[in-house]
Amino acid sequence: AKQDGRNCFGYFSADMNNNMLARITLEQSLRSAVLQHEFCLHYQPIVDTSSGEGLALEALLRWRHPQKGLVPPDEFIPIAEETGLIEPIGEWVIQQALRDLSDWHRQGMMINMAINVSSRQLSHGDPTQFACMLNGLLQKFDVAPQYVHIEITESILMADTELSLKALTAIRHLGVEIYLDDFGTGYSSLSYLKQFPISVIKIDKSFVDNMLEDRADANLIKAIINMGQSLDMRLVAEGVETEPQRSFLQGLGCDFVQGYLISKPLPSNELAPLLRRIVKV
Ligand code: C2E
Ligand code: CA
Ligand code: CA
Ligand code: CA
Repeated sequence: AKQDGRNCFGYFSADMNNNMLARITLEQSLRSAVLQHEFCLHYQPIVDTSSGEGLALEALLRWRHPQKGLVPPDEFIPIAEETGLIEPIGEWVIQQALRDLSDWHRQGMMINMAINVSSRQLSHGDPTQFACMLNGLLQKFDVAPQYVHIEITESILMADTELSLKALTAIRHLGVEIYLDDFGTGYSSLSYLKQFPISVIKIDKSFVDNMLEDRADANLIKAIINMGQSLDMRLVAEGVETEPQRSFLQGLGCDFVQGYLISKPLPSNELAPLLRRIVKV
């Protein structure tokens, strides 16, 4: 998707980062995207490494630009974060994910939903503001909190430990679980993580990519799994594309896998066969 994006929308490429005009144009079209309902969510399953049973669906944001087609999130989320537009966009993501989740629950498919949240969404206003907003939406869509999981990255933990701890504790007190995304790419150690209410660690795709060829990456994954287990956290490996990768992770005791081997992210109207496969009723 990354490469497609580059070919179709060279306009948004990284070299243009310094081009003020391009950025302003992007910011303006992002602003109108919120109002014009140009966003949608695709869903990708996280499944038990051995049984294939679903742990959750991860909601992944997509922007259907009227002229440029599908714009991948890596090309607009950084700008949404810088401009503060991530707050209304992020709230839309939660609404849409909960709306879809409540539909599936009404159909008897009791899957969990994992939602990505930027640090800016958590650090805005007082530390309980995000949890209050989330709680309001859980009520509005009549979703039980234990089915909702929030994915955060290490940058949140590093920014301001005391405020982050308050914000995460308020979320956890709702009954919502917290995943630590992209683990291994930041600077925090697992022992440091112990103080935060984190249930699940997602091992970054970059380690999974080379683990079968690169002893160092394989050892790193082993170490993350062992330490995660000793902290009573569950582990997800991201970006699993092949069966040899899955079986290697199974051998290491990695609880869950996510990646193209299981399924690419899909729009909600294409999800039914997948849900039947991964939700045990
Ligand atoms: P992420 O949270 O690490 O999401 C995983 C990314 O890896 C997704 O890219 C997914 O499509 C891709 N992926 C999953 N399995 C495989 C695989 O087997 N192979 C390969 N090559 N890729 C795989 P996507 O959807 O383009 O999202 C990119 C990033 O954008 C996400 O990374 C996340 O950081 C951010 N993002 C997406 N949706 C949201 C959102 O609603 N809010 C916020 N704040 N960030 C979001
Ligand atoms: Ca994620
Ligand atoms: Ca990730
Ligand atoms: Ca990532």
